[in-house]
Amino acid sequence: MAINKLEVLEKYFGYKSFRRGQEKIIDEILNGRDVLAIMPTGGGKSLCYQVPALILDGITIVISPLISLMKDQVDTLNLMGINSAFLNSSLSTYEFNEVINGIVNNKYKIIYVAPERLHSNEFITVITQAKISQLAIDEAHCVSQWGHDFRVSYKGISTFIDKLIERPIITSFTATASEEVRRDIINLLKLNDPKIFITGFDRENLRINIVKGVDKRKFVLNYIKNNLRDSGIIYAATRREVDSIYELLKKNNINVGRYHAGLSNDERIKYQEQFINDETSVIVATNAFGMGIDKPNIRYVLHYNMPKNIEGYYQEIGRAGRDGEESECIMLFSPADVITQKYLIEVSTEDPIRKTNQYKKLQQMTGLVYINNCYRKYILEYFGDSYEGECGNCSNCLSKGEVKDRTIDAQKVISCVYKMKKSFGVGMIVDVLRGSKNKKLLNLGFDELSTYGIMKNYSSDGLKEFTNILIAHGYLDVNEEFGTVALNNISFKVIKDEVKVLLKEVNIESNKVEFNDLFEKLRLLRQEIAQEEKKAPYMIFGDGTLREMSIKYPTTKVEILEISGVGEIKYERYGEKFISIIKEYIIENNIKKEIVIENVSQETEENLEREDDYFEINTNEELLERLINIRQGFANKLNLPVSMVLSKNTLKEISGRYPNNLEMLKDIAGIGPKKIEAYGDKIVEEVDKYIIEKSINPIWKEKKRKKLIIDGETRSVSEIALDRMNMGEEIEAISEDMEISISTILGYVTDYIKSTGDYSISVDIDRYFDKDNEKMILDAINKNEIDKIQAIKKSLPDYIKYEAIRAVILKNFILKN
Ligand code: ADP
Ligand code: ZN
Repeated sequence: MAINKLEVLEKYFGYKSFRRGQEKIIDEILNGRDVLAIMPTGGGKSLCYQVPALILDGITIVISPLISLMKDQVDTLNLMGINSAFLNSSLSTYEFNEVINGIVNNKYKIIYVAPERLHSNEFITVITQAKISQLAIDEAHCVSQWGHDFRVSYKGISTFIDKLIERPIITSFTATASEEVRRDIINLLKLNDPKIFITGFDRENLRINIVKGVDKRKFVLNYIKNNLRDSGIIYAATRREVDSIYELLKKNNINVGRYHAGLSNDERIKYQEQFINDETSVIVATNAFGMGIDKPNIRYVLHYNMPKNIEGYYQEIGRAGRDGEESECIMLFSPADVITQKYLIEVSTEDPIRKTNQYKKLQQMTGLVYINNCYRKYILEYFGDSYEGECGNCSNCLSKGEVKDRTIDAQKVISCVYKMKKSFGVGMIVDVLRGSKNKKLLNLGFDELSTYGIMKNYSSDGLKEFTNILIAHGYLDVNEEFGTVALNNISFKVIKDEVKVLLKEVNIESNKVEFNDLFEKLRLLRQEIAQEEKKAPYMIFGDGTLREMSIKYPTTKVEILEISGVGEIKYERYGEKFISIIKEYIIENNIKKEIVIENVSQETEENLEREDDYFEINTNEELLERLINIRQGFANKLNLPVSMVLSKNTLKEISGRYPNNLEMLKDIAGIGPKKIEAYGDKIVEEVDKYIIEKSINPIWKEKKRKKLIIDGETRSVSEIALDRMNMGEEIEAISEDMEISISTILGYVTDYIKSTGDYSISVDIDRYFDKDNEKMILDAINKNEIDKIQAIKKSLPDYIKYEAIRAVILKNFILKN
């Protein structure tokens, strides 16, 4: 074998190590053994057969039931430099023949095939002439009638195998397999003494949150506004609810899609594609959505309602974070969800046995919602995995230590319900407790109850939420039909002090890793390339890859190949484009980069370590003054703003380092070859003149990649600007003095608020736009995407400035009212 598995992993996939389970599976396959691997969604199954495909001699045929995914998978492989193709009913005769030709001419290493295809004579004739090294069966549970999506055509797979002259290695993969299904896979696919792998169902990168008693619509709107840049799915139980959330988000200028069985096929496809291509970041859907998509960078899955069973729930949240990056799963629970699910069970089946079974599963689902300890443990144990300890990554684990005794407040609410005698809804109870002057309340004489006005310290929303939490935890009952609140046994125990009400405070803001501006820039580039090449953005590079770039700042081939997800072919296609954005960013922001040098000898490595990390200089005010004059001269001549000629920081650096030849000038930040050509001579001349005039003898030292500190200033440009704003300086003054545009400063403010949640910065943004402009800008944002400032600008008339767009975004999406 010419190439080994690690080399394949690096060269094509750009990954540095295998995930749990992958390596052992690959080893067995390479040893020629049949395999059945059970791994959770997003566990990395495909790599397990793709890596051997490249090492083994011959073609790997992959059987997959999801026609909609084949093209994506094949595109992804080809972009990595792995020759592959697919055969299914979506191809024209011409395309089909092309692929067949390719097979005959040994062009491919991997062919994806729909199971129906296995029985076409043409295919069999061609394929039996080729050497098939491996037959990989994806979604292998489809072979079993016991599974949840049985496919008749899967039963024909073993007949197909029998027709092959030489039996290839048969490998099979699935995310879900009970005992019965497992046995079916082995028997019906006629696996030969297969090695069985069960890697465990845990998905560590998913944070599991369950939130009770909140105003769901508010929560959703708030959450989405705080996570506009991330891809996510909102699942709701019914079409009606999907539509209503969709409208809510749309009304708030959020670029949103939707998906349910009531939409036309075209509409569904449209929304799905927009979502996959990162054109809309959020999609609201019923559980009909998700099967046919493989999008790896879904950062959150938000359940607007509790699903009907844990299988469904885990499958749906499993769609988040397939790329292994931290992702968030949030379920918003209210007792009404149980009612909805019961209703759905009632209408879905007549069969009493199935019905009982579904009720049992619903019970287990509800059980999850009410437990007080680790959610992950409960779920994994439900699937038969044992789980030691607690996960530390679910809302129950994370809110440890914040359990509060709320018995007294609960007693107030409960006794109020008791005193009101007849049943009322939460709204009326809250009004009484808060001492409202609501007419109906007064007519009923509730202002004379001893509980009238005893909870004025709560806001109306806060008290509603608290009452709903009491209901969610079973301290009060709610009448299913009328939504009225009633007492139950536990309520009385609470009043009698026999049961304490201990509640955990759950607080979900965005927990996710904050990305810097560079990440956004790289993401923009990815989007541009994807549009140009008509590929999904994730196929170019994954989110994790971009994030690693935005932290490590690779600027050479060697360095960028070190980033997970950058293989050789991808480097050749895209590497330099990304590097040039990174370089620009490093210079603009004066970034100190960790030095990454490959293959240096021990000795030089030690030398490097001994050197300082910083390069400190002080500006020479007098020389700076002269340089500023020179710059002004160029600006006048070329009719450019001074900051476009050279930035002030560049001039400061020159004034403190005295480069008196062009070679030295190359070591100054912010003056590249073009600018050196245009202004270099004049600057060098001035520096030289100054040195002679003052008879000074500056010692030249190379800065290399060290972080430059001018006049002891260690803050970044954005930090300085924000600090100055905090000290009360006007944006205009800061902009002029620091030579950065107002729109850039507004961008800093936006990023600052988003990343810290600190709204205390005061900025008078209304003066950057008027009402009409605001409306136009909001329309443009709605049509484009909020991050794409350039695209938004382009779609507006020229007189609308960047700063107006930034200001409108700040006002409408960032600043709280
Ligand atoms: P599954 O089919 O099990 O749901 P996939 O095969 O689609 O999962 O893999 C999910 C994601 O994880 C893909 O984006 C894949 O590129 C990535 N991935 C797989 N193996 C690795 C690895 N060893 N290192 C980093 N990423 C990986
Ligand atoms: Zn936990």
